[in-house]
Amino acid sequence: GGAVAFENVVFGYEPDRTILNGVSFAVGAGETLAIVGPSGAGKSTIARLLFRFYDPQGGRILIDDQGISQVTQKSLRAEIGIVPQDTVLFNDSIGYNIAYGREGASAEEIAAAAEGAAIDGFIALLPQGYDTEVGERGLKLSGGEKQRVAIARTLLKNPPVLILDEATSALDSRTEAAIQDTLERIAARRTTLVIAHRLSTVTNADRIIVLDKGRVAETGTHDQLLAMR
Ligand code: ADP
Ligand code: ADP
Repeated sequence: GGAVAFENVVFGYEPDRTILNGVSFAVGAGETLAIVGPSGAGKSTIARLLFRFYDPQGGRILIDDQGISQVTQKSLRAEIGIVPQDTVLFNDSIGYNIAYGREGASAEEIAAAAEGAAIDGFIALLPQGYDTEVGERGLKLSGGEKQRVAIARTLLKNPPVLILDEATSALDSRTEAAIQDTLERIAARRTTLVIAHRLSTVTNADRIIVLDKGRVAETGTHDQLLAMR
């Protein structure tokens, strides 16, 4: 499973300011769709609507052909994993932060779960050992290290639908390239929505939509969109 569709979705946080003005797209099970657009275009809003943090004022959102208003919050959370832009870490070990929601899991259990989820390169994503303390709000880790913990935490849940919300934006370019590579292999096996600022970071998406002024302004592959510029 894991097909996601937006049909003519209209949404605004405030009554007189529409953020999404009839947005439609569909991503089939196992496909990767990238959502690109300027800051404030509504990219993260799409992720929040998928989790039903808010409901749209118009249109429909479907997962596996079922309206998400019919799906329980619990199943939505099992179905969709997000690597958010800003990760909140607990003042505990890396292992605890990755296994969050899996009470009392040991390093061995985490590693076994990672293997069960067939996450290639999972261990390589970890900045340091499982026992390393991250400190208050993760301040003992760099932005890139925190991001890797966040990615590992989400991958461990093995969700059918994965949302990467500018997941590598905090990383230096060398680490970004290495993690991008791992993420692409992971994305190849499940439905993935990649949220990005720049077209150049989503070369391998099956399809890209460009959001602008509340609408899907362009749709195509990376090469098709480049040719239009
Ligand atoms: P993007 O991810 O493309 O940068 P967002 O989806 O985060 O954009 O935001 C789209 C627009 O919605 C922005 O203008 C932003 O200021 C506004 N916005 C986001 N969250 C809220 C909120 N909770 N209340 C009101 N406006 C919001
Ligand atoms: P879970 O309950 O699935 O174990 P968490 O309790 O860590 O996950 O987070 C609650 C839910 O909110 C999760 O599905 C998580 O992926 C999602 N979430 C966390 N941060 C964001 C965000 N910035 N935008 C949208 N969804 C988010």
